[in-house]
Amino acid sequence: MVKVIIVGGGWSGCAAAITAKKAGGEVTLLERGDMLLGTGLVGGIMRNNGRFTAAEEAIAMGGNELFNATDENSRHRNMDFPGHKHASLYDVAKIEPAVGRKLTAVGVDFRLESRFTDVVMDGQTIKAVKTENGDVYEGDVFVDCTGTAGPQGNCTKYGNGCAMCILRCPSFGPRVSLAGKAGAKEFMGKKGDGSFGAMSGSCKLFKESLSDDIVQELNKAGVAVVPIPEKLRKSGVLGKKACQQYALPEFEQNVILLDTGHAKLMTPYYPLENLRQIPGFENARFEDPYTGGRGNSMRYMAVSYRDNHLKVEGVDNLFCAGEKAGLLVGHTEAIITGLLAGANAARLAAKRPLIEIPVSLAAGDAIDHVGKQMRTEEGIKLKYTFSGSVYFKRMQELGLYTTDKAAIQAKVKAAGMADIFNQKVC
Ligand SMILES: Cc1cc2nc3c(=O)[nH]c(=O)nc-3n(C[C@H](O)[C@H](O)[C@H](O)COP(=O)(O)OP(=O)(O)OC[C@H]3O[C@@H](n4cnc5c(N)ncnc54)[C@H](O)[C@@H]3O)c2cc1C
Repeated sequence: MVKVIIVGGGWSGCAAAITAKKAGGEVTLLERGDMLLGTGLVGGIMRNNGRFTAAEEAIAMGGNELFNATDENSRHRNMDFPGHKHASLYDVAKIEPAVGRKLTAVGVDFRLESRFTDVVMDGQTIKAVKTENGDVYEGDVFVDCTGTAGPQGNCTKYGNGCAMCILRCPSFGPRVSLAGKAGAKEFMGKKGDGSFGAMSGSCKLFKESLSDDIVQELNKAGVAVVPIPEKLRKSGVLGKKACQQYALPEFEQNVILLDTGHAKLMTPYYPLENLRQIPGFENARFEDPYTGGRGNSMRYMAVSYRDNHLKVEGVDNLFCAGEKAGLLVGHTEAIITGLLAGANAARLAAKRPLIEIPVSLAAGDAIDHVGKQMRTEEGIKLKYTFSGSVYFKRMQELGLYTTDKAAIQAKVKAAGMADIFNQKVC
Protein backbone atom coordinates (compact mmCIF):
# COMPACT_ATOMS: atom_id res chain seq x y z
CA MET A 1 0.00 0.00 0.00
CA VAL A 2 1.30 3.50 -0.78
CA LYS A 3 2.12 5.74 2.17
CA VAL A 4 1.09 9.40 2.08
CA ILE A 5 2.31 11.74 4.83
CA ILE A 6 0.54 15.07 5.20
CA VAL A 7 2.09 17.81 7.32
CA GLY A 8 -0.30 20.43 8.74
CA GLY A 9 -3.86 19.75 9.92
CA GLY A 10 -5.62 22.95 8.79
CA TRP A 11 -8.54 22.77 6.35
CA SER A 12 -6.18 21.94 3.46
CA GLY A 13 -4.40 19.13 5.34
CA CYS A 14 -7.70 17.57 6.47
CA ALA A 15 -9.03 17.66 2.90
CA ALA A 16 -5.81 16.18 1.49
CA ALA A 17 -5.93 13.39 4.07
CA ILE A 18 -9.49 12.47 3.08
CA THR A 19 -8.86 12.23 -0.67
CA ALA A 20 -5.52 10.44 -0.28
CA LYS A 21 -7.28 7.90 1.96
CA LYS A 22 -10.27 7.50 -0.37
CA ALA A 23 -7.84 6.94 -3.26
CA GLY A 24 -6.53 3.94 -1.33
CA GLY A 25 -3.43 5.33 0.38
CA GLU A 26 -2.26 4.68 3.93
CA VAL A 27 -2.43 8.21 5.32
CA THR A 28 -0.79 9.89 8.32
CA LEU A 29 -1.59 13.53 9.09
CA LEU A 30 0.80 15.39 11.41
CA GLU A 31 -0.37 18.54 13.22
CA ARG A 32 1.78 20.63 15.57
CA GLY A 33 -1.08 21.94 17.72
CA ASP A 34 -3.50 20.18 20.07
CA MET A 35 -6.42 20.68 17.67
CA LEU A 36 -7.02 20.34 13.95
CA LEU A 37 -8.04 23.22 11.64
CA GLY A 38 -5.29 25.82 12.21
CA THR A 39 -6.64 29.24 11.27
CA GLY A 40 -9.99 27.55 10.57
CA LEU A 41 -10.49 27.42 14.34
CA VAL A 42 -11.29 31.14 14.26
CA GLY A 43 -12.88 31.66 10.82
CA GLY A 44 -16.36 30.50 9.98
CA ILE A 45 -17.58 32.21 6.80
CA MET A 46 -18.51 29.74 4.06
CA ARG A 47 -20.53 29.81 0.84
CA ASN A 48 -20.38 33.62 0.42
CA ASN A 49 -20.49 34.79 -3.21
CA GLY A 50 -18.42 32.49 -5.49
CA ARG A 51 -17.53 30.17 -2.62
CA PHE A 52 -21.02 28.69 -3.03
CA THR A 53 -20.22 27.65 -6.62
CA ALA A 54 -16.77 26.34 -5.69
CA ALA A 55 -18.12 24.32 -2.74
CA GLU A 56 -20.81 22.73 -4.92
CA GLU A 57 -18.24 21.91 -7.62
CA ALA A 58 -16.10 20.17 -4.99
CA ILE A 59 -19.10 18.23 -3.70
CA ALA A 60 -19.98 17.13 -7.24
CA MET A 61 -16.35 15.98 -7.66
CA GLY A 62 -16.78 13.73 -4.59
CA GLY A 63 -15.22 16.00 -1.96
CA ASN A 64 -18.30 16.40 0.22
CA GLU A 65 -17.15 15.39 3.73
CA LEU A 66 -15.76 18.72 4.98
CA PHE A 67 -18.49 20.81 3.36
CA ASN A 68 -21.00 18.53 5.09
CA ALA A 69 -19.18 19.23 8.37
CA THR A 70 -19.42 23.01 7.93
CA ASP A 71 -23.04 22.85 6.73
CA GLU A 72 -24.02 20.60 9.65
CA ASN A 73 -22.38 23.00 12.12
CA SER A 74 -23.62 26.29 10.68
CA ARG A 75 -25.28 28.75 13.06
CA HIS A 76 -26.70 30.77 10.15
CA ARG A 77 -27.36 29.83 6.53
CA ASN A 78 -28.12 31.72 3.34
CA MET A 79 -27.55 35.15 4.93
CA ASP A 80 -26.31 38.40 3.40
CA PHE A 81 -23.91 40.99 4.79
CA PRO A 82 -22.35 44.02 3.06
CA GLY A 83 -20.87 42.93 -0.29
CA HIS A 84 -21.62 39.25 0.39
CA LYS A 85 -24.58 37.02 -0.44
CA HIS A 86 -25.88 33.60 0.66
CA ALA A 87 -23.17 33.06 3.30
CA SER A 88 -23.24 30.46 6.04
CA LEU A 89 -21.36 30.79 9.32
CA TYR A 90 -20.05 27.72 11.07
CA ASP A 91 -19.88 27.55 14.83
CA VAL A 92 -16.21 27.88 15.75
CA ALA A 93 -16.83 26.08 19.06
CA LYS A 94 -18.20 22.94 17.41
CA ILE A 95 -16.43 22.52 14.10
CA GLU A 96 -13.08 21.04 15.18
CA PRO A 97 -14.32 17.86 16.90
CA ALA A 98 -16.80 17.41 14.03
CA VAL A 99 -13.92 17.43 11.51
CA GLY A 100 -11.95 14.99 13.69
CA ARG A 101 -14.93 12.61 13.51
CA LYS A 102 -15.09 12.93 9.70
CA LEU A 103 -11.38 12.02 9.44
CA THR A 104 -11.81 9.05 11.75
CA ALA A 105 -14.84 7.84 9.76
CA VAL A 106 -12.76 7.80 6.56
CA GLY A 107 -9.86 6.04 8.36
CA VAL A 108 -7.27 8.83 8.51
CA ASP A 109 -4.61 8.45 11.20
CA PHE A 110 -4.07 11.96 12.57
CA ARG A 111 -1.44 12.78 15.18
CA LEU A 112 -1.72 15.98 17.22
CA GLU A 113 1.21 17.70 18.95
CA SER A 114 3.45 16.22 16.26
CA ARG A 115 5.44 19.14 14.92
CA PHE A 116 7.46 18.43 11.78
CA THR A 117 11.01 19.75 12.13
CA ASP A 118 13.17 18.16 9.41
CA VAL A 119 13.32 15.99 6.30
CA VAL A 120 15.36 13.00 5.20
CA MET A 121 16.20 13.48 1.50
CA ASP A 122 17.66 11.31 -1.24
CA GLY A 123 18.54 13.84 -3.93
CA GLN A 124 15.28 15.59 -4.83
CA THR A 125 13.13 12.89 -3.20
CA ILE A 126 11.79 13.05 0.35
CA LYS A 127 12.24 9.72 2.12
CA ALA A 128 10.91 10.65 5.58
CA VAL A 129 9.92 13.51 7.87
CA LYS A 130 11.04 13.93 11.48
CA THR A 131 9.04 15.47 14.31
CA GLU A 132 10.05 17.39 17.39
CA ASN A 133 9.18 14.34 19.55
CA GLY A 134 11.88 12.36 17.72
CA ASP A 135 9.51 10.29 15.59
CA VAL A 136 10.42 9.51 11.96
CA TYR A 137 7.65 8.95 9.37
CA GLU A 138 8.72 7.30 6.13
CA GLY A 139 6.49 7.83 3.11
CA ASP A 140 6.19 7.49 -0.65
CA VAL A 141 4.61 10.90 -1.21
CA PHE A 142 4.24 13.97 1.02
CA VAL A 143 1.87 16.96 1.12
CA ASP A 144 2.85 20.31 2.62
CA CYS A 145 -0.21 21.89 4.26
CA THR A 146 1.67 23.93 6.86
CA GLY A 147 0.01 27.22 5.91
CA THR A 148 1.74 30.58 5.75
CA ALA A 149 0.93 32.13 9.15
CA GLY A 150 3.52 33.47 11.56
CA PRO A 151 5.51 32.45 13.51
CA GLN A 152 6.14 35.15 16.11
CA GLY A 153 9.34 36.46 14.50
CA ASN A 154 7.44 37.26 11.30
CA CYS A 155 4.51 38.80 13.20
CA THR A 156 7.01 41.07 14.96
CA LYS A 157 9.05 41.89 11.86
CA TYR A 158 6.17 42.47 9.43
CA GLY A 159 3.19 43.12 11.72
CA ASN A 160 2.50 44.64 15.14
CA GLY A 161 4.06 41.81 17.16
CA CYS A 162 2.59 38.56 18.49
CA ALA A 163 -1.10 39.21 19.14
CA MET A 164 -1.52 35.81 20.87
CA CYS A 165 -3.60 34.16 18.16
CA ILE A 166 -5.07 30.69 17.94
CA LEU A 167 -1.85 29.21 16.51
CA ARG A 168 -0.20 29.61 19.95
CA CYS A 169 3.38 29.46 18.65
CA PRO A 170 4.98 29.93 22.09
CA SER A 171 3.31 26.72 23.31
CA PHE A 172 3.39 24.48 20.22
CA GLY A 173 6.46 25.82 18.44
CA PRO A 174 6.81 27.68 15.18
CA ARG A 175 5.44 26.71 11.78
CA VAL A 176 8.05 24.89 9.68
CA SER A 177 7.69 24.65 5.91
CA LEU A 178 8.14 21.13 4.56
CA ALA A 179 8.73 22.47 1.04
CA GLY A 180 11.36 24.89 2.36
CA LYS A 181 13.17 22.13 4.28
CA ALA A 182 13.11 19.93 1.16
CA GLY A 183 14.92 22.68 -0.74
CA ALA A 184 12.01 24.06 -2.81
CA LYS A 185 12.05 27.74 -3.70
CA GLU A 186 9.41 29.79 -1.86
CA PHE A 187 8.23 33.39 -1.96
CA MET A 188 6.47 35.85 0.33
CA GLY A 189 3.22 37.62 -0.59
CA LYS A 190 3.19 41.39 -0.50
CA LYS A 191 0.79 44.15 0.43
CA GLY A 192 -0.25 46.79 -2.11
CA ASP A 193 2.55 49.08 -0.89
CA GLY A 194 5.14 46.39 -1.59
CA SER A 195 5.82 45.42 2.06
CA PHE A 196 5.81 41.71 2.92
CA GLY A 197 2.95 39.58 4.27
CA ALA A 198 -0.67 40.43 5.03
CA MET A 199 -2.44 40.78 8.34
CA SER A 200 -5.34 38.44 9.14
CA GLY A 201 -8.53 40.39 8.55
CA SER A 202 -10.83 39.61 11.47
CA CYS A 203 -10.84 39.14 15.22
CA LYS A 204 -13.38 37.92 17.73
CA LEU A 205 -15.11 39.57 20.69
CA PHE A 206 -16.80 37.81 23.58
CA LYS A 207 -20.52 38.19 22.88
CA GLU A 208 -21.03 38.47 26.63
CA SER A 209 -19.05 41.72 26.58
CA LEU A 210 -21.46 43.42 24.12
CA SER A 211 -24.79 45.16 24.76
CA ASP A 212 -27.98 43.06 24.80
CA ASP A 213 -29.41 44.62 21.64
CA ILE A 214 -26.26 43.82 19.60
CA VAL A 215 -26.25 40.24 20.88
CA GLN A 216 -29.96 39.80 20.06
CA GLU A 217 -29.40 41.11 16.53
CA LEU A 218 -26.42 38.78 16.05
CA ASN A 219 -28.29 35.73 17.30
CA LYS A 220 -31.32 36.48 15.13
CA ALA A 221 -29.80 37.72 11.86
CA GLY A 222 -26.21 36.48 12.10
CA VAL A 223 -24.93 39.98 11.39
CA ALA A 224 -24.93 43.35 13.17
CA VAL A 225 -23.86 46.55 11.40
CA VAL A 226 -23.08 49.28 13.95
CA PRO A 227 -22.12 52.74 12.61
CA ILE A 228 -18.81 54.12 13.92
CA PRO A 229 -19.15 57.75 15.15
CA GLU A 230 -17.44 60.08 12.61
CA LYS A 231 -14.67 61.17 15.00
CA LEU A 232 -13.56 57.56 15.60
CA ARG A 233 -13.38 56.46 11.94
CA LYS A 234 -9.92 55.52 10.70
CA SER A 235 -8.82 55.00 7.14
CA GLY A 236 -5.91 52.96 5.80
CA VAL A 237 -6.41 49.76 7.84
CA LEU A 238 -8.17 47.87 5.03
CA GLY A 239 -5.15 47.81 2.68
CA LYS A 240 -3.22 45.67 5.18
CA LYS A 241 -5.80 42.90 5.21
CA ALA A 242 -5.22 39.39 3.93
CA CYS A 243 -8.89 39.11 2.93
CA GLN A 244 -9.37 41.88 0.41
CA GLN A 245 -12.96 40.80 -0.23
CA TYR A 246 -13.87 42.77 2.91
CA ALA A 247 -11.84 45.88 2.00
CA LEU A 248 -15.05 47.81 1.20
CA PRO A 249 -16.02 51.29 2.51
CA GLU A 250 -18.87 49.78 4.61
CA PHE A 251 -16.25 47.94 6.65
CA GLU A 252 -14.46 51.23 7.46
CA GLN A 253 -17.61 53.20 8.35
CA ASN A 254 -19.27 50.54 10.50
CA VAL A 255 -18.35 47.89 12.99
CA ILE A 256 -19.52 44.75 11.18
CA LEU A 257 -20.02 41.73 13.40
CA LEU A 258 -20.88 38.18 12.34
CA ASP A 259 -22.15 35.45 14.63
CA THR A 260 -19.75 32.49 14.55
CA GLY A 261 -20.47 31.69 18.20
CA HIS A 262 -18.36 34.63 19.23
CA ALA A 263 -18.83 38.03 17.60
CA LYS A 264 -16.50 38.04 14.57
CA LEU A 265 -15.31 41.62 14.10
CA MET A 266 -14.49 42.20 10.44
CA THR A 267 -11.29 44.19 10.82
CA PRO A 268 -7.69 43.03 11.50
CA TYR A 269 -7.56 44.76 14.92
CA TYR A 270 -9.28 47.58 16.76
CA PRO A 271 -7.69 49.63 19.56
CA LEU A 272 -9.71 48.68 22.62
CA GLU A 273 -9.86 52.24 23.93
CA ASN A 274 -11.54 53.41 20.68
CA LEU A 275 -13.81 50.39 20.42
CA ARG A 276 -15.15 50.97 23.93
CA GLN A 277 -16.26 54.48 22.95
CA ILE A 278 -18.80 53.07 20.48
CA PRO A 279 -22.29 52.66 21.97
CA GLY A 280 -22.87 48.99 22.82
CA PHE A 281 -19.13 48.22 23.05
CA GLU A 282 -18.39 49.86 26.42
CA ASN A 283 -17.30 46.50 27.93
CA ALA A 284 -15.87 44.95 24.75
CA ARG A 285 -13.22 42.28 25.21
CA PHE A 286 -11.22 40.28 22.68
CA GLU A 287 -11.50 36.50 22.55
CA ASP A 288 -9.16 36.05 19.54
CA PRO A 289 -6.48 37.13 19.17
CA TYR A 290 -6.12 38.03 22.82
CA THR A 291 -4.37 41.23 21.81
CA GLY A 292 -6.85 42.11 19.06
CA GLY A 293 -6.58 45.74 20.16
CA ARG A 294 -3.07 45.88 18.71
CA GLY A 295 -2.67 43.47 15.85
CA ASN A 296 -3.30 40.09 14.30
CA SER A 297 -1.35 37.19 12.80
CA MET A 298 0.77 37.80 9.68
CA ARG A 299 0.27 35.43 6.77
CA TYR A 300 1.57 34.61 3.26
CA MET A 301 5.11 34.30 4.58
CA ALA A 302 6.09 31.12 2.63
CA VAL A 303 4.26 30.19 -0.57
CA SER A 304 5.39 27.37 -2.89
CA TYR A 305 5.74 27.41 -6.66
CA ARG A 306 3.65 24.53 -7.98
CA ASP A 307 1.94 23.30 -11.13
CA ASN A 308 -1.79 22.79 -11.71
CA HIS A 309 -1.60 19.31 -10.13
CA LEU A 310 -0.26 21.15 -7.04
CA LYS A 311 3.05 19.33 -7.29
CA VAL A 312 5.80 21.48 -5.77
CA GLU A 313 8.55 22.52 -8.17
CA GLY A 314 12.01 21.15 -7.41
CA VAL A 315 10.95 18.16 -5.27
CA ASP A 316 10.01 14.84 -6.90
CA ASN A 317 7.36 13.60 -4.45
CA LEU A 318 5.86 16.68 -2.78
CA PHE A 319 2.48 18.38 -3.24
CA CYS A 320 1.13 21.45 -1.48
CA ALA A 321 -2.30 22.88 -0.70
CA GLY A 322 -4.09 25.75 1.03
CA GLU A 323 -2.22 29.00 1.50
CA LYS A 324 1.06 27.22 0.63
CA ALA A 325 -0.29 26.69 -2.89
CA GLY A 326 -0.75 30.35 -3.73
CA LEU A 327 -2.19 33.57 -2.44
CA LEU A 328 -5.50 31.84 -1.95
CA VAL A 329 -7.50 33.04 1.05
CA GLY A 330 -10.17 30.99 2.73
CA HIS A 331 -11.44 27.70 4.10
CA THR A 332 -13.19 26.76 0.84
CA GLU A 333 -10.04 27.54 -1.14
CA ALA A 334 -7.94 25.46 1.30
CA ILE A 335 -10.36 22.52 1.15
CA ILE A 336 -10.49 22.47 -2.65
CA THR A 337 -6.71 22.63 -3.12
CA GLY A 338 -6.35 20.03 -0.35
CA LEU A 339 -8.77 17.65 -2.09
CA LEU A 340 -6.72 17.90 -5.28
CA ALA A 341 -3.29 17.59 -3.63
CA GLY A 342 -4.31 14.54 -1.57
CA ALA A 343 -5.81 12.72 -4.57
CA ASN A 344 -2.76 13.48 -6.70
CA ALA A 345 -0.35 12.38 -3.95
CA ALA A 346 -1.95 8.93 -3.93
CA ARG A 347 -2.00 8.87 -7.73
CA LEU A 348 1.70 9.74 -8.03
CA ALA A 349 2.60 6.97 -5.62
CA ALA A 350 0.36 4.53 -7.51
CA LYS A 351 1.90 5.66 -10.84
CA ARG A 352 -1.51 6.74 -12.15
CA PRO A 353 -2.18 9.89 -14.22
CA LEU A 354 -2.52 13.03 -12.11
CA ILE A 355 -5.72 15.09 -12.02
CA GLU A 356 -5.88 18.64 -13.34
CA ILE A 357 -9.21 20.40 -12.72
CA PRO A 358 -10.30 21.93 -16.05
CA VAL A 359 -10.58 25.72 -16.31
CA SER A 360 -14.23 25.32 -17.28
CA LEU A 361 -14.79 24.97 -13.52
CA ALA A 362 -14.16 27.82 -11.06
CA ALA A 363 -11.93 25.51 -8.98
CA GLY A 364 -9.71 24.73 -11.97
CA ASP A 365 -9.61 28.30 -13.24
CA ALA A 366 -8.64 29.65 -9.80
CA ILE A 367 -5.77 27.15 -9.43
CA ASP A 368 -4.54 27.94 -12.94
CA HIS A 369 -5.00 31.73 -12.68
CA VAL A 370 -3.36 32.08 -9.26
CA GLY A 371 -0.50 29.81 -10.37
CA LYS A 372 0.24 32.29 -13.16
CA GLN A 373 -0.40 35.45 -11.13
CA MET A 374 1.99 34.45 -8.36
CA ARG A 375 4.86 34.56 -10.84
CA THR A 376 4.30 38.28 -11.48
CA GLU A 377 5.33 41.25 -9.32
CA GLU A 378 1.81 42.76 -9.44
CA GLY A 379 0.16 39.37 -8.85
CA ILE A 380 1.92 38.73 -5.52
CA LYS A 381 0.49 41.98 -4.13
CA LEU A 382 -3.04 40.60 -4.48
CA LYS A 383 -4.98 37.91 -2.64
CA TYR A 384 -7.40 35.61 -4.40
CA THR A 385 -10.70 34.18 -3.17
CA PHE A 386 -13.93 32.94 -4.70
CA SER A 387 -15.77 35.29 -2.33
CA GLY A 388 -14.74 38.73 -3.58
CA SER A 389 -12.11 41.12 -4.81
CA VAL A 390 -10.28 40.38 -8.08
CA TYR A 391 -10.98 36.68 -8.37
CA PHE A 392 -14.76 36.83 -7.80
CA LYS A 393 -14.86 39.57 -10.46
CA ARG A 394 -13.04 37.24 -12.85
CA MET A 395 -15.42 34.39 -12.00
CA GLN A 396 -18.40 36.57 -12.88
CA GLU A 397 -16.81 37.84 -16.10
CA LEU A 398 -16.04 34.28 -17.23
CA GLY A 399 -19.55 33.08 -16.38
CA LEU A 400 -18.18 30.69 -13.74
CA TYR A 401 -20.41 31.95 -10.89
CA THR A 402 -23.81 30.37 -10.36
CA THR A 403 -25.87 29.18 -7.40
CA ASP A 404 -27.80 26.66 -9.52
CA LYS A 405 -26.73 23.31 -8.03
CA ALA A 406 -28.08 21.24 -10.95
CA ALA A 407 -26.15 23.42 -13.42
CA ILE A 408 -22.95 23.02 -11.38
CA GLN A 409 -23.36 19.23 -11.26
CA ALA A 410 -23.91 19.16 -15.04
CA LYS A 411 -20.77 21.25 -15.63
CA VAL A 412 -18.69 18.99 -13.42
CA LYS A 413 -20.01 15.94 -15.29
CA ALA A 414 -19.31 17.55 -18.67
CA ALA A 415 -15.75 18.28 -17.52
CA GLY A 416 -15.29 14.54 -16.79
CA MET A 417 -14.77 15.26 -13.08
CA ALA A 418 -17.92 13.80 -11.48
CA ASP A 419 -16.97 11.83 -8.37
CA ILE A 420 -13.27 11.93 -9.28
CA PHE A 421 -12.29 12.25 -5.59
CA ASN A 422 -14.07 8.99 -4.80
CA GLN A 423 -11.99 6.95 -7.26
CA LYS A 424 -9.79 4.31 -5.66
CA VAL A 425 -6.46 4.11 -7.50
CA CYS A 426 -4.25 2.02 -5.22
C1 LIG B 1 -8.41 35.30 12.07
C2 LIG B 1 -8.75 34.62 10.77
C3 LIG B 1 -10.08 34.57 10.34
C4 LIG B 1 -10.40 33.95 9.13
N1 LIG B 1 -11.70 33.87 8.75
C5 LIG B 1 -12.05 33.19 7.64
C6 LIG B 1 -13.41 32.98 7.32
O1 LIG B 1 -14.32 33.38 8.04
N2 LIG B 1 -13.69 32.29 6.18
C7 LIG B 1 -12.71 31.80 5.34
O2 LIG B 1 -13.04 31.16 4.33
N3 LIG B 1 -11.40 31.98 5.64
C8 LIG B 1 -11.05 32.66 6.77
N4 LIG B 1 -9.73 32.81 7.10
C9 LIG B 1 -8.70 32.30 6.18
C10 LIG B 1 -8.59 30.79 6.29
O3 LIG B 1 -8.63 30.41 7.65
C11 LIG B 1 -7.30 30.27 5.66
O4 LIG B 1 -7.01 30.86 4.41
C12 LIG B 1 -7.35 28.74 5.46
O5 LIG B 1 -8.12 28.11 6.45
C13 LIG B 1 -5.92 28.26 5.43
O6 LIG B 1 -5.86 26.87 5.57
P1 LIG B 1 -4.46 26.11 5.45
O7 LIG B 1 -4.76 24.67 5.68
O8 LIG B 1 -3.79 26.49 4.19
O9 LIG B 1 -3.53 26.72 6.61
P2 LIG B 1 -3.64 26.88 8.19
O10 LIG B 1 -5.03 27.10 8.62
O11 LIG B 1 -2.62 27.91 8.53
O12 LIG B 1 -3.19 25.48 8.73
C14 LIG B 1 -1.85 25.08 8.74
C15 LIG B 1 -1.69 24.03 9.80
O13 LIG B 1 -0.36 23.51 9.74
C16 LIG B 1 0.12 23.35 11.05
N5 LIG B 1 1.58 23.35 11.01
C17 LIG B 1 2.42 24.37 10.70
N6 LIG B 1 3.70 23.98 10.80
C18 LIG B 1 3.66 22.68 11.17
C19 LIG B 1 4.67 21.73 11.45
N7 LIG B 1 5.97 22.05 11.39
N8 LIG B 1 4.30 20.48 11.81
C20 LIG B 1 2.97 20.13 11.90
N9 LIG B 1 1.97 21.01 11.67
C21 LIG B 1 2.33 22.27 11.29
C22 LIG B 1 -0.47 24.53 11.80
O14 LIG B 1 -0.48 24.30 13.20
C23 LIG B 1 -1.86 24.59 11.21
O15 LIG B 1 -2.80 23.81 11.91
C24 LIG B 1 -9.38 33.39 8.33
C25 LIG B 1 -8.04 33.42 8.76
C26 LIG B 1 -7.73 34.00 9.98
C27 LIG B 1 -6.32 33.97 10.48
